[in-house]
Amino acid sequence: MSEEKIFDENVSEETMLKEHLAKVQENIRIACQKAGREPSEVTLIAVSKTKPVSMLETVYRTGVREFGENKVQELVDKYEALPEDIHWHMIGHLQRNKVKYIVDKACLIHSVDSLRLAEEISRVALLKQVRARVLVEVNIAGEESKFGMTTEETVSLVSTIAALPGIHVEGLMTIAPFVEDPEENRMYFRKMKELSVDISHKNIDNVCMDILSMGMTGDYMVAIEEGATMVRVGTGIFGERQYAVTV
Ligand SMILES: *Cc1c(COP(=O)(O)O)cnc(C)c1O
Repeated sequence: MSEEKIFDENVSEETMLKEHLAKVQENIRIACQKAGREPSEVTLIAVSKTKPVSMLETVYRTGVREFGENKVQELVDKYEALPEDIHWHMIGHLQRNKVKYIVDKACLIHSVDSLRLAEEISRVALLKQVRARVLVEVNIAGEESKFGMTTEETVSLVSTIAALPGIHVEGLMTIAPFVEDPEENRMYFRKMKELSVDISHKNIDNVCMDILSMGMTGDYMVAIEEGATMVRVGTGIFGERQYAVTV
C-alpha cells in the first residue's frame, strides 16, 4: 500500500470518528432538552472495547477523557499505552481474581454484581491504599443471560457493601435488553431511576446514588430521558465491532 493511501485512510477514519462523536453529543443535547435536563448532567463514556489504541487517540484528541472497557487485560494494556488523564471505566463482568489488576486503574467499576466481588475490591483497595468507586449492576429485566442483582437483592447488597472499608457505592448500572425499538426499554430505565431514588431515600451511610449508568448505542436517548447520568456508547462512536471468530 502506498503512503498516500494510508494517509487517506487515517484522514477518513478521523473524520468518521469526529462526525460520530458530534452526532452522539448532539443526540445527548436533544434528549436532555426533551427531559428538561442539562447536558452537563450526562457523562458520555466512549466504549472502546476491541478497538485499536490509534482510534482511542483520535477520540482523545477531540477532548474525550472517559473510556469504557469490558475486559481487564484490555483495560490495563490501553491504560499503559494512553495518556494519564484518561478516566477508565470498567463496564464488563469482573472476576474476583482479576480485581487486583484494575482497582488502582479504573476510576469507576460499573459491574459489581455480588458481595464476594465487593469484598475482594475492598480488600485490594485497602492493600493499595485507594478508595474504589463502584456501581451495583442490576439485572432490571430479569434476563437469564445477564449478570446483575434483582431489585430486592440490590437494596441489601448496597447496604452491605456500604459497611466495607475502601469501597464506595456511587450508584447503579444496568445493561438493558437488546431490542429493536428503544421505547421497549423505557420502562426498565424508569424502574432503575425509581430504585435509585428509593435507595437514596434510605440515607444509608457511605452510599450515594448520584450515578445512573444506563443506555448504549441503541437506546441512550431514552435512557437520558429517564434519568441516566452516564451513557456507555461504543458502536455509535467507533463503528461496528469485529470479534475474532474462534473455531
Ligand atoms: C459493549 C458495551 C456497551 C456499548 O455497546 P454499544 O451498543 O456498542 O454502544 C455498553 N455497555 C457495556 C456493559 C458493554 O459491554
